[in-house]
Amino acid sequence: MEDRPTDHAHYSGTAFDRAGERRRDDAWIATRLGDPESRLVPVWRGRSLVRGGEAAFLDTRTGWHLIEGAPTEPIFLGIDERHALFALDVSHLEEDDLADLVPGAAFTELYGVATQLMRREASLLSHAAWMIHWTRRHRFCGACGHATRAADAGHMRRCTNPDCGVMHFPRTDPAVIVVVEHEGRCLLARQKGWPDQLHSCLAGFVEPGESAEEAVAREVKEESGITVHAVTARGSQPWPYPCSLMLGFWAQTDDPALHLGDDELAEAHWFSRAQLADPEALGIRLPRHDSIARRLIDDWIALGD
Ligand SMILES: [Zn+2]
Repeated sequence: MEDRPTDHAHYSGTAFDRAGERRRDDAWIATRLGDPESRLVPVWRGRSLVRGGEAAFLDTRTGWHLIEGAPTEPIFLGIDERHALFALDVSHLEEDDLADLVPGAAFTELYGVATQLMRREASLLSHAAWMIHWTRRHRFCGACGHATRAADAGHMRRCTNPDCGVMHFPRTDPAVIVVVEHEGRCLLARQKGWPDQLHSCLAGFVEPGESAEEAVAREVKEESGITVHAVTARGSQPWPYPCSLMLGFWAQTDDPALHLGDDELAEAHWFSRAQLADPEALGIRLPRHDSIARRLIDDWIALGD
């Protein structure tokens, strides 16, 4: 296979500066929070605020009462040309309170609208939802059980127990995903519980103490019985459902005999490029266009025989 790395991944490519050096500047953060030009990216019970296929925002003036009542502090996301951007958890609001927040906008599951959003909008909304998701699950210290408090403008939470003081950082779970090839055909599979036609690459989480390449070899072997070599990195993608970093690979095998494990896969098949050019005729469906799985498959098809 020729090397042509997967790039321009959906959910990446924010159009603003994360300005990490500002996170510890409490006075600057407080000034930005009081600035009517700043923007709040609200997240309600895991849902993002969307209007007409675009991200919708609150300004800090109309949103100030929300900041004061919010379950956790606003989290500084970065700065675009004019605005400082903050993620804000508004999960304390009742459903009836949401209607008038931004006219015409609605809190929506990002997964349901992500393919219609511009890449930078999907990136911003997933970044905000990701930080709120992490914050809500780290309000108490995993080491001693005391409450934690936000630091670094929400990018770290420190245990309030003076005998502990452990620092907790936002979590990203690495997972590998791989197109396995054998003599011009690639291996796609359907997991148990997936829709009947959906077929995708093999994938799984990286385990402690293994490299991503080792995780590829282990996952493919466990799920399909296939032994791979020539494991080659093909780019990565944040996957905000809820907090994975997908690491994309291609790999080769010399022996295509499938022995499916009991747990994960309902079926797996080898497909040629010609077959995958018309999935409908095969009776299968390929993964969503916003996924690295789809990009890995499309790149492999585009390479040609
Ligand atoms: Zn603690």
